[in-house]
Amino acid sequence: MKLINASLRHQQGFHTLRLQNGLIVAIEPQTGRLAPESDAIDANGQLVIPPLVEPHIHLDATLTAGEPEWNMSGTLFEGIERWSQRKATMTHNDIKQRAHTTIGMLRDHGIQHVRTHVDVTDPSLAALRAMLEVKEEARGLIDLQIVAFPQEGIESFANGRRLMEQAIEMGADVVGGIPHFENTREQGVSSVKFLMDLAERTGCLVDVHCDETDDPQSRFLEVLAEEARVRGMGQRVTASHTVAMGSYDNAYCSKLFRLLRLSDINFISCPTESIHLQGRFDTFPKRRGVTRVAELDRAGLNVCFGQDSIKDPWYPLGNGNILRILDAGLHICHMMGYQDLQRCLDFVTDNSAVAMHLGERYGIVVGRPANLLILDAENDYEAVRRQAKARLSIRHGKVIMRRIPEQIGYGQ
Ligand SMILES: [Zn+2]
Repeated sequence: MKLINASLRHQQGFHTLRLQNGLIVAIEPQTGRLAPESDAIDANGQLVIPPLVEPHIHLDATLTAGEPEWNMSGTLFEGIERWSQRKATMTHNDIKQRAHTTIGMLRDHGIQHVRTHVDVTDPSLAALRAMLEVKEEARGLIDLQIVAFPQEGIESFANGRRLMEQAIEMGADVVGGIPHFENTREQGVSSVKFLMDLAERTGCLVDVHCDETDDPQSRFLEVLAEEARVRGMGQRVTASHTVAMGSYDNAYCSKLFRLLRLSDINFISCPTESIHLQGRFDTFPKRRGVTRVAELDRAGLNVCFGQDSIKDPWYPLGNGNILRILDAGLHICHMMGYQDLQRCLDFVTDNSAVAMHLGERYGIVVGRPANLLILDAENDYEAVRRQAKARLSIRHGKVIMRRIPEQIGYGQ
């Protein structure tokens, strides 16, 4: 297969890409624009990028909002209560069906790499069993990483430690956590030590829901970063949310950032979810309740954006489009300076791939898998300004999604 007239990010002119046996085998600069050829896909001067990445979603919870009750307060904690009710009625097929439907939505928006958290605070581990099957069944569309996520705590949920271990034994790829939700500060700290031990022992990656609260005293990020630093595991560790950082004062943050740089951990922000769930205990002025995305980025730390929810007890909207999250995130995090916009796709592509540790399985590079997208824009800035969509998605050298651009008519 051959793609012609491709624009590549931060490169001049057009390129031809040759794909063979599921791999990218050549990337050739063109001297000008080529005429359409019958056996080539014409990118028409638009961006060809590696697939978009969804680094933080909960596929076991998507498409359940309002079942059996809506989250009326809009808070994270009522969300956890509503989820606990819905969890009681969950079945194997129900989870699988909703996960596959959601994966279809992600495919339609050019996503091919997904990290899902799966609630393992359930003695039957039903959601995990279902998601392990989904992972195999969906291979033709996405690569799925599964996080063993203790929604109701490791230390404060009955048998929580054992359930985490069991989840990893069964095949979860990533060790999760929720230290700010544990009953006490001490339990929060011991849960982080426990999950880091588990990851070190099993060679799993780590992704912790960390300080997802406006409480400025919620300081588990420093515990996670220090554990990662001491063990030399930083690049394998991700702190998701860290929204309390939006409430930390600058004196504490300047000390914290030194540790973050030393630890070299990754960050995932879910800006639409956070702007919706946080700030709920404030009147005015009202906090944004989002982590310091621009500041982390400028400090040289790896940070990316995720959707978190699609129509679930925590967040009623969402449609699988990660570029919508990028758009919102750039607004919410004060990142619409010229230079930010020139490279904004980093936050939903390369940076996310680093957090997910995709390594040489990702990127428009000769020898890597022929997984790529044609985006309906010439560069990062236009992609976000025009709310561009994926026009064509290719996976292992085969087209898995083709979008017919909408047309507008005038008059009769
Ligand atoms: Zn989450």
